Amino acid sequence: ETKQEKQPLSLQLCAPRGFCAGVDRAIQIVELALTKYGRPVYVRHEIVHNKFVVDGLKAKGAVFVEELEEIPAEHSDRPVIFSAHGVPKSVPEDAQARKMFYLDATCPLVSKVHKEAEIHFRRDREVLLIGHAGHPEVIGTMGQLPDGTVTLIETEDDAHAYVPKSDRPLAYITQTTLSVDDTAGIVAVLQQRFPDIVAPHKEDICYATTNRQEAVKHVAPKVDAMIVVGAPNSSNSQRLREVAERSGCKISVLIQRASDIQWQDFEGVRTLGLTAGASAPETLVEEIITAFAERFDVTVETVHTAEETISFNLPRELRDMIAPAQ
Ligand code: SF4
Repeated sequence: ETKQEKQPLSLQLCAPRGFCAGVDRAIQIVELALTKYGRPVYVRHEIVHNKFVVDGLKAKGAVFVEELEEIPAEHSDRPVIFSAHGVPKSVPEDAQARKMFYLDATCPLVSKVHKEAEIHFRRDREVLLIGHAGHPEVIGTMGQLPDGTVTLIETEDDAHAYVPKSDRPLAYITQTTLSVDDTAGIVAVLQQRFPDIVAPHKEDICYATTNRQEAVKHVAPKVDAMIVVGAPNSSNSQRLREVAERSGCKISVLIQRASDIQWQDFEGVRTLGLTAGASAPETLVEEIITAFAERFDVTVETVHTAEETISFNLPRELRDMIAPAQ
């Protein structure tokens, strides 16, 4: 009996993919806080939107809560960490009022958008935020200014329908993990309606979001299917799946683990693109490559479309935990 031959599969690995500097920093903050202060360390909201990462940190002694009230009174002296997505101003205020020790893992590129919101507000501009309702980053950014100050714009229709609340000058800011193309469409509507609207000096959509979408745009038209490794509540991962679909990939799926793969979808596939959202660890990408290699005769090729060298400083309180740079 001859062993059945595996079908060849050319796997195109997008680069850059996976962890960005903000996610890397946020996870490091939790790990170093556990080392420095012992367990438990509390984390408000999933530190990054990835179950595998969250479960790994839980095993090391991190306790995840949605709100500070959930932290038991006898643990009010334990450190609490705010997630990479950022928090409304009320959260650190609340922590201070409760005399809690907190570490802020908000990505510096999200903090930059928070600062823009404040500057616009101080200059008496009406602020529009382009983003997705309910995402923690949007809740955090809107929560930098008093309730009702920021108007959320989710779609081009919203941009068309928007009625200024006053005759003050307008400014817009955006969520960091949006679709580059959708956002350009929304901005075009706003600029056409309000030519004087103040734009961010430098794109609010972050480098990691932009680079991962670019890589997918490059690979997607050349492959039969695209897999994005990431969580369903991860905004940037969802956008990657959409970008692949719009670039012509008939099969474009977002999966968390190899066990999520619907193998029947990939029966006729000869070329496969693979990428990962900014919160998905590389080990999950490897797990998926291994799963395909068990069923196909896989050749892996990496498609580089950008180099990333950016990294962020840790909060002051944790800097003594790492060896000084050479
Ligand atoms: Fe920061 Fe961008 Fe990563 Fe979000 S996706 S954590 S904004 S670098």
